[in-house]
Amino acid sequence: MSFDLDARTFSFKDMKVSISSVDGRLKNIALDIGDYQKNALNGQGAKSAKIVYNKKHNCFFIHIAVDYAAECIVPSGDVIGIDRGLYNIVYCSDKFRYSGKQVMHKRRQYVKLRASLQAKGTKGAKKLLKRLGGKEKRWMTDINHQISRKIVDNSNKGDILVLEDLKHIRKRIKLAKKQRAVVNSWAFGQIQKFLEYKAAEKGILMTYIDPRYTSQKCSKCNCIHKSNRNSHLFICKECGYTANADYNASCNIRMVYMTHEDGLMSKSPEATPIKVVASPRL
Ligand SMILES: [Zn+2]
Repeated sequence: MSFDLDARTFSFKDMKVSISSVDGRLKNIALDIGDYQKNALNGQGAKSAKIVYNKKHNCFFIHIAVDYAAECIVPSGDVIGIDRGLYNIVYCSDKFRYSGKQVMHKRRQYVKLRASLQAKGTKGAKKLLKRLGGKEKRWMTDINHQISRKIVDNSNKGDILVLEDLKHIRKRIKLAKKQRAVVNSWAFGQIQKFLEYKAAEKGILMTYIDPRYTSQKCSKCNCIHKSNRNSHLFICKECGYTANADYNASCNIRMVYMTHEDGLMSKSPEATPIKVVASPRL
């Protein structure tokens, strides 16, 4: 259960909220929040929020939306290309990678367990099925936090993270659907979301590119050939360059940015205000 609040039904002052309810105005409700949320909300004139009921904890959460203009950061550091995929969830051009092997294995276990519970069809099985879905999502969310944290920890203020546009990844995942138990496409969107706010906190920029040919192109001699990619290995038909296919793709993603720098600059996050959502517990 959740409902939206706007400037008429919600106000925020001194880390306290007032909300309109069917029983009249509930005034000055203190927020149970940590330092991160306090910093994000400090001095903000929040005008909208969402109330969400959490059944498990039997309490309400409030998501308060604040707009703040990020500090203007000049791209001055390293450019890191990030390839996202199924075999490696991420492979960065600085050679950091997170293998998708364990994730795929666990996803398969969940798929099997779900199938057997569905076959059972009892009330208890249905209940368990619901719990399982939540558990799987929390597990994947935790992994996505770890991945994004590691990438940001490996980078410095002024660095630029270059990723391929999410819609292209979604297309690829659809094609790979024949393989059962692949990583859900929402997981890639989530990594992106986590990366965006963690990078913004540290002054790291992010930009997105059209990934055309990044998997077929040789990052050493630029030769594009379909058969350059041989499953997980990239072997260039032209110059013989051999590398992990996802690593080669990450170098190409980086190069797209390097060669089209001017055109892509306007897309970098410093040009637009960043929306931060703090979710304190009421
Ligand atoms: Zn080559």
